[in-house]
Amino acid sequence: MSIKDNYFEILSSIPENVQLVAVSKTKPVADIQVIYDCGQRIFGENKAHEIVEKQSQLPDDIEWHFIGHLQRNKVKMVIPYISCVESIDSLRLLKDIDNEARKINRVIDCFLEFKIAREETKSGMTFEQGVELLSSNDYKMMNNIRICGVMGMATYTKDVAQIKEEFSRLKDMFEILKPQFFKYVDYFTQISMGMSDDYQIAIGQGSTIVRVGSSIFGGRV
Ligand SMILES: *Cc1c(COP(=O)(O)O)cnc(C)c1O
Repeated sequence: MSIKDNYFEILSSIPENVQLVAVSKTKPVADIQVIYDCGQRIFGENKAHEIVEKQSQLPDDIEWHFIGHLQRNKVKMVIPYISCVESIDSLRLLKDIDNEARKINRVIDCFLEFKIAREETKSGMTFEQGVELLSSNDYKMMNNIRICGVMGMATYTKDVAQIKEEFSRLKDMFEILKPQFFKYVDYFTQISMGMSDDYQIAIGQGSTIVRVGSSIFGGRV
């Protein structure tokens, strides 16, 4: 199947109120252009230099989501080009983003990444660390970031019950944080969970935005 066919198949399997981030990491701009031409506007990347390089060759109205571990020394380089960092895993990173965004007069959407998987290799904060971040004075002083939701990755396993449980924990975290820290704002709305292998399960557990790569663009080497 072509990228275009894959794309429309994925789109048709996602409810209208769930957004799709097309994860284009390692894939060439020509592949991105194919589904841009089909209407896709949100793309996900996990390397700063890759976004910088690709955005210069693609239309300006693409919304780039940063979805991997963002090194603090890469923040300055990537902030002019992205609309959202889905992978906030520390207060220090958030501070750096706020600082660089202020310098260029932008507001960057951010999701708090929580570790829901059992695998040690998966990144993200504990729930307690997230609460600590949101309770901090530093956070309250930030004007150039907006926390718009949460993000998480389930364990890579065939055990559907476990995946369900992990996604439902992320949904629970969202539901606890919302009244506690975002009662008077309208932008804390996103639960980013689900990838090629598990996005259907994630949608069943309340995902509002899925990040799908290989099912659209093919496998990565
Ligand atoms: C690579 C990646 C995805 C997409 O993975 P696929 O299995 O190719 O759909 C989603 N989220 C994150 C954080 C990723 O790094």
